[in-house]
Amino acid sequence: MFEYAPAPESRSIVSIRPSYDLFIDGDFVPAKSDERIVTVNPADEEPLSEVAAAGEADVDRAFAAARRAFERVWSPMPPAERGKYLFRIARIIQERSRELAVLESLDNGKPIKETRDIDLPLVAQHFFYYAGWADKLRHAGFGTRPLGVAAQVIPWNFPLLMLAWKVAPALATGNTVVLKPAETTPLTALVFAEICQEAGLPPGVVNIVTGAGDTGAAVVAHPGGDKVAFTGSTEVGRQIARAVAGTRKRLTLELGGKGANIVYDDAAIDQAVEGIVSGIFFNQGHVCCAGSRLLVQESIAEELLARLRARIELLRLGDPLDKNTDIGAINSAAQLARIRELAAAGEAEGATSWSPACPLPERGYWFRPTVFTGVTQAHRIAREEIFGPVLSVLTFRTPEEAVAKANNTPYGLSAGVWTEKGSLMLWTASRLRAGVVWSNTFNVFDPASPFGGYKESGYGREGGLLGLEAYLG
Ligand code: NAD
Repeated sequence: MFEYAPAPESRSIVSIRPSYDLFIDGDFVPAKSDERIVTVNPADEEPLSEVAAAGEADVDRAFAAARRAFERVWSPMPPAERGKYLFRIARIIQERSRELAVLESLDNGKPIKETRDIDLPLVAQHFFYYAGWADKLRHAGFGTRPLGVAAQVIPWNFPLLMLAWKVAPALATGNTVVLKPAETTPLTALVFAEICQEAGLPPGVVNIVTGAGDTGAAVVAHPGGDKVAFTGSTEVGRQIARAVAGTRKRLTLELGGKGANIVYDDAAIDQAVEGIVSGIFFNQGHVCCAGSRLLVQESIAEELLARLRARIELLRLGDPLDKNTDIGAINSAAQLARIRELAAAGEAEGATSWSPACPLPERGYWFRPTVFTGVTQAHRIAREEIFGPVLSVLTFRTPEEAVAKANNTPYGLSAGVWTEKGSLMLWTASRLRAGVVWSNTFNVFDPASPFGGYKESGYGREGGLLGLEAYLG
C-alpha cells in the first residue's frame, strides 16, 4: 500500500453548479418545495452541490410530461428516428466522458481509472447497443408495442451506468421515462439531462426527479406509470413489489447479491487471485454481483491466501481522482457504518480478519480491503450482503460441497468458477443458481448479455434482447 497521494488537477475539468433543479419536460425547473439535499464528496466530506427534493406534486408534473411525450411524439415517431436520438446521446456521452468520469468519481468516491475505463465506456456502449435495436424490434421475436411511461429508480454504486441500463432500452422501445437517481449520487444524472437537451431529445421523453426514498416511493406508486424498473436493495425491492402488486404495472427488480467465487485446485492460481481481487475490491465492493464469498478448495487454500494477501498489499487506497488509485472512498457515512457493523459481527462470531496496514486519509469515508478466514456458513458475513471491500473465505473438498455452499444463500445473482478442466467448469456452472456465472474471469459486462438474478436477487433481465422485452407488450 502506498501513502495517500495529493489530488491531481483533473477536478478542474468539471464545473459543478452550486444547486440543481429537477429536469421535467425538457427544462430544469424548481421543485414545489424548498427542501434540498446536499451531495458530498465522500473522499473529503466537502459538499459538492445541492439538489431539489421532489415531492408528489413534482412527480405528478414529471409523469404528465412523460405521458404527453409518449402519446404525441415518442411512440408515434418512426423507430429509426428514435434510434438516431440514442446514437446522438451515445456520441455526446463519449465526447463528455472525461468530465462525466471525474464527476462520477467526485460524487461516488470510486477511482477515476474505473469511471474512465469501465463505467463511461460501458455507458456509451449501452446507448449504442440499444440505438441499433430501435428499428429492428420486429425481428426480436416478441411484442413491439411500448408499454408507456417507465418509472425507474436507481442506486448509487454505478450511478450513470445504472441510468444507462434503464433509460437506453426504455427509449429504444418507444417508452418515456421518469427516473429517480440515488440521493448520494445525483450529479451525473443531471448532466445526462443536459445531454438530452444537447441531443435535441423531445421534451418529456426523459424526466429526472431527484430526492430520497420518499421521492422514489412516489415515483413507484404514481398511477401514471406503466412499468416500474428498480435496482437497489432487496429490502426496498420487497416494498416496491408490494406497492406494485395489484396494479397493471410491469415490474423488474435488480437487487442484492452474495456471489461465490469458486477456485478449484487445478486453477491458474495467479489469474484466480486477480479475479478474486477484482471480484471483491472493484468499486470498493459496492457491486451487487461482487464475488464476496471466496470458496477455495482446501488443498490450495493456504497457498492461494498467501498470494492473495501479497496482491492486496499492492493495492493503492486513496484519492479517487488519482489515476493510480485502486480503492477509493466508501460512498456514504451510512454505508461505512453498515460495513463496520458487519465486519465487527464477523469478529464477534469468531472469524479472523486481515487487512493491509495502510494509512487511511483523515477525512472522508474509508475502509481497508479486508479478508475474513475461518468463516462458517452460519456467520452473518457469509450470508448477508456487506456491499463493501470485505471478502469472506470458506473452503471445500469436493465439487458437490462447493456447489452446495455457493447455492446456500438467499441470493442468486453472480458466481465465478476457476478451473482449467472444461468438464468441471460446465458441471459446476450448470448447478449454480446464479444469473451470471463467469468462467476464469469475473466482473465482465457487455450490453448484449442479459443480467439479472434468481431468488432474492430479483427478477427480470436487463441488457441484451431480454432487456428490450421488459419494455414491450
Ligand atoms: P436502496 O434500495 O437503499 O436505494 C436504491 C434507490 O431506491 C435509491 O434511489 C433510493 O432513494 C430509492 N429508495 C429508497 N427507499 C425507497 C422506497 N421505499 N421506494 C422507492 N424507492 C426507494 O439501495 P442502495 O443502498 O442505493 O444500493 C445498494 C443496493 O443495490 C445493494 O443491495 C446492491 O446489491 C443493489 N444493486 C443491485 C444491482 C443489480 O443489478 N442487481 C445493481 C446495483 C446495486
